[in-house]
Amino acid sequence: MSVNAQTIRIGDVVRVRGTFRVVRDLRSVPGGGRLLVFTNARPFRLNPAATLDTPGPRAAPGRSPQRSAPAGAPRSWQIAPGSDDDADPVTQAMMCRVCGLTSPQTESAHPGRVWMLEHAGKNPTHRAYHQITRTPWRATLAPSPTTAP
Ligand SMILES: [Zn+2]
Repeated sequence: MSVNAQTIRIGDVVRVRGTFRVVRDLRSVPGGGRLLVFTNARPFRLNPAATLDTPGPRAAPGRSPQRSAPAGAPRSWQIAPGSDDDADPVTQAMMCRVCGLTSPQTESAHPGRVWMLEHAGKNPTHRAYHQITRTPWRATLAPSPTTAP
């Protein structure tokens, strides 16, 4: 498959200088050509008469709701709180803003508050604290359009 200056679209994967790259932006240039902008490469000027290889067919816009993603196309990530590991709970701690000492991380906020009272009792000028909450998060690859149910 191939595309030319008329058919190329942002998001297409094209072979430029021997490497498949994703088109991040397109600009028209005088004479009918297009300037192709990539993420980590110099822009490439596509002349009106030239074609570029693509890794596979591109679904016609509006014809198929399941656009097949070309091999090597970027996939998006989704992030959410959570963990694969039940041993990685949300934990709390208190940190003294004067000296930087921190209470143990525990699943309950109570031990940190007890630690804070004791710390302030021993160090009467240490009166400012941060409550630190540690929440596990995960990043996962979004399902690709070809494998969506
Ligand atoms: Zn302190």
